[in-house]
Amino acid sequence: MSEPRPPGEAERATLARAGELGVHRLAVPTPFQVGRVNAYLIEDDPLTLVDSGPNSAKALDELELALAAHGRAVEDIGLLVVTHQHIDHFGLAAILARRSGAQVAALDALAPYLGRFGEEAELDDRFATLAMLRHGIPPDMVTALRSVSATFRAWGAAVEVTLPLRDREQLQLRDRTLEVLHRPGHSPSDTLFFDARRSLLLSADHLISHISSNPLLTRPLGADPEQPAPRPQALVTYMSSLRATRAMDVELVLPGHGPPITDHRALIDERMRLHERRAEKILRLIAERPRTAHEIAQAMWGNVAVTQAYLTLSEVLGHIDLLLADGRVSEHEQGDVVRFAAS
Ligand SMILES: [Zn+2]
Repeated sequence: MSEPRPPGEAERATLARAGELGVHRLAVPTPFQVGRVNAYLIEDDPLTLVDSGPNSAKALDELELALAAHGRAVEDIGLLVVTHQHIDHFGLAAILARRSGAQVAALDALAPYLGRFGEEAELDDRFATLAMLRHGIPPDMVTALRSVSATFRAWGAAVEVTLPLRDREQLQLRDRTLEVLHRPGHSPSDTLFFDARRSLLLSADHLISHISSNPLLTRPLGADPEQPAPRPQALVTYMSSLRATRAMDVELVLPGHGPPITDHRALIDERMRLHERRAEKILRLIAERPRTAHEIAQAMWGNVAVTQAYLTLSEVLGHIDLLLADGRVSEHEQGDVVRFAAS
């Protein structure tokens, strides 16, 4: 588990500025490679916590210490906000809600998923299994990955959403208004919270400064994985969400992992260029000979395509979707496996 990197001077100053605006970052440990997740405590009425960390004793212990450093306790929380469907962000929410009696707010489309987390995660795994087999990941590897995923599920827990939020709705606290913005791509449920008066945006995993937010190939909310359906266009969706965020005037972006962001436009431009370069690289591999998405991932990332098979598969398919949309690549079914060729 990673220790928090000591913040640099600029980061400390930016976090202090957020604190003056009544928003405190609480970095909560996770057992995942991403390291700590940022929960945000908003000093308002009700006292609000945006995201909670994963369902672990370690996360709860550190969250309580972080709350205590601000003179607060779990029991003081009146509103819990969930930014999206990933367990490092909402796993503790049920425990916190039970102990505090807080309302739980999340995007309306996400509410059923959070309420039935166990069953929904099972459907997600089924969807992922079918996608992995279809795109050339060997069956024994798929079986191994599934058991890893089933283990990870313990860091999540079902939570009842008592305050479903609509896209573009204004979430009103005593001293501030947060605009609810559905910006899917990293996951189908990514929700941003924008305080226009303070020019402050809580971006969750939609925009992170030190890592690119992987647009994961994910079962659409409520979809049946056994029903044939077009592949969700995670990266295409994500890039369109990024363009909407780029158009906003924001001074301070507080992300779900890592340091605050003070120039979101430069960061978004950098991400856009990264995805264009990556699509070109993938096109060159496909032009050599037709390949499955897994073969492309192996050519791009070697062993990482084994340990992080689903992540790298999502990356490849996201960029192939861009190439398909431009008519530069075509898709061919051979038996149960799909190969991509230059067109
Ligand atoms: Zn996430």
